[in-house]
Amino acid sequence: MIVDVVLAAGARLGEGPLWDPRAAALRWVDIEPGLVHRFDPESSEDTSFEAGEPVGAVAVRRDGGLVLATASGISTCAEDGSGLTRLHEVSTDPPGGRFNDGKADPWGRFWAGTMHEGKGRAGAFYRLDPDGSLHEMLTDVSVSNGLGWSPDGRTMYYTDTPTGGVDAFDHDPETGTISRRRRLFDVERGWPDGLTVDVEGNLWVALWDGWAVRRYMPDGRLVDTVELPAQRITSCAFGGTDLSTLYLTSARTGLSADELDRQPHAGSLFALDAQVSGQAPGEWAG
Ligand code: CA
Repeated sequence: MIVDVVLAAGARLGEGPLWDPRAAALRWVDIEPGLVHRFDPESSEDTSFEAGEPVGAVAVRRDGGLVLATASGISTCAEDGSGLTRLHEVSTDPPGGRFNDGKADPWGRFWAGTMHEGKGRAGAFYRLDPDGSLHEMLTDVSVSNGLGWSPDGRTMYYTDTPTGGVDAFDHDPETGTISRRRRLFDVERGWPDGLTVDVEGNLWVALWDGWAVRRYMPDGRLVDTVELPAQRITSCAFGGTDLSTLYLTSARTGLSADELDRQPHAGSLFALDAQVSGQAPGEWAG
């Protein structure tokens, strides 16, 4: 597969790509400087606003505007970042962590989890329902990361990165409950970061320190490894009008000057023709 550098973003910690069909744009975040981006693939124009603190994930609200998972909680705002309104304060145990990856599901719920740079198992994983209530779904999380759902909605996939693999849960789309956690696969190349699920139910997993994105079948078997010109691939999402372009984010953070010299594309936004489509992106229905 041919990989394109679609935006030489130079992101410190590019993350959370999300296709917004109404805007015909890819939203993504640069976590450390707290920037929420909007990339228009037609014009190649990228704009951003400051969230005022590190921002781990962005989702689209069904009624317009965005929902943000930031260092200190979950907020809503308009598309341009104005009208920032706090829904829930959230802290890690001990405090000092932040929200990391998050995503809206096809049933109108928004899920996001936390992490703490200095301490393992200080984070948790949350579900924000359309009525605005916040539910703690998992505790003892170290680095809450990729998540996605099978096309039938009966399985949720989840990554706590330091565990080295991707887990599956039974998921009830009616109620948003999850149960029967089990390991689906270990990645054994770098660390599993963000992920997305295509219409055939295959998982695409971005590999932090793995220079690649990998595709796995729903039973956990490895199908493909697509090499990328950056060490820290952080997340991926299907986009474009037919949802057949796989967009990937990457990071520069933590790399030495020598390492950055060897990977000038670190921090860029990449795209590849995945030859399969993604599922329609979810929106928070609150
Ligand atoms: Ca991540």
